[in-house]
Amino acid sequence: GATIGILGGGQLGRMLAMAAAQLGYRCHIFDPDPAAPAFDVCAARTVADYGDPEALGRFAASVDVVTFEFENVPVAALARLEAHNPTRPCSRALATAQDRLSEKRFVQAAGLPVSRYAGIASAEDLAAALGDFGPSILKTRRFGYDGKGQVRLAPGDDPAVAWAAIGGQPAILEALVPFDTEVSVIVARGLDGAEVAYGPVENTHRNGILDVSRVPAQVSAAAADAALAHTQTIADQLGYVGVLAVEWFVVGDQVLFNEIAPRVHNSGHWTIEGAVTSQFENHIRAICGLPLGEPSPVAAVDMRNLIGEEAHDWAAILRDPQSHLHLYGKHEARPGRKMGHVTKVRR
Ligand code: ATP
Ligand code: MG
Ligand code: MG
Repeated sequence: GATIGILGGGQLGRMLAMAAAQLGYRCHIFDPDPAAPAFDVCAARTVADYGDPEALGRFAASVDVVTFEFENVPVAALARLEAHNPTRPCSRALATAQDRLSEKRFVQAAGLPVSRYAGIASAEDLAAALGDFGPSILKTRRFGYDGKGQVRLAPGDDPAVAWAAIGGQPAILEALVPFDTEVSVIVARGLDGAEVAYGPVENTHRNGILDVSRVPAQVSAAAADAALAHTQTIADQLGYVGVLAVEWFVVGDQVLFNEIAPRVHNSGHWTIEGAVTSQFENHIRAICGLPLGEPSPVAAVDMRNLIGEEAHDWAAILRDPQSHLHLYGKHEARPGRKMGHVTKVRR
């Protein structure tokens, strides 16, 4: 059996490794954190910094294909591995999708609908842009997740305060979209360019963190079709191999691009029990050059994240014949941390 190298050992890496094991593959996981949740379920591990060339070299020599579950892997680290191993998705797709300004430009250049945005490199840039933006959100270009690295702005707010609040990092300003619904579409694209798509999935957030994902999404057929078609266009134009998720704002029958996640996605966890083939299995199939699996849902499904130190009635969840409990084995519950999820398949 071949060995799959995964950069990143969070819960996404853990669920990828479990899907890989089912298909007879071994996983070697690379993560700087010795307590990474995926280490519990993999065949080999490297605990090292993503910038450590010797550790990367040994990792490259021990695996047959490289992928990642963490979108903030340094592009230079992935490019170094790419010189030795098939790397799927490729470093160019990662570079585009890990920077909010480059992904917005890319999607706009593909002719897809993007709400108004501007690149911001200084407090002066922000002051100049704010004048004609109205209500907006300032986001760091890189490293944001779960709503971190963002600040909302209204006309008249002090740009210097907002700039300081995001740490004075390269940023983008986005017009606030008065959306009706948020959806994501997850696409798996194979080595041969074949694609399967899940969704759209309807997502609701709490405190900036994904709370519940549902299928089918309660949006018009026109909006659903647009989100699906546009996501497939993005996967094609990136020459993507593997699973990618794109988040869309739905306004009536229209959709507007929010962001690309170049990896398996939290809004796809429902696919483990709720779809014929899970997003994790389809990512493994795609990067290993296998035929992709059927993505359709088996029923109406919802997935709820278990966040931080909230108390849960475990017995009630386990007694419910429609519910499936997932715990990520994290040693420490911290506020806002994703500890597990519950998928309810309404057969
Ligand atoms: P994730 O955890 O999904 O990676 P993130 O930190 O990368 O999130 P975004 O997806 O950019 O952040 O924004 C988080 C949430 O904030 C969105 O799901 C949406 O609810 C809201 N939001 C972000 N940008 C806008 C916008 N331009 N207009 C309206 N709401 C927005
Ligand atoms: Mg994001
Ligand atoms: Mg998001």
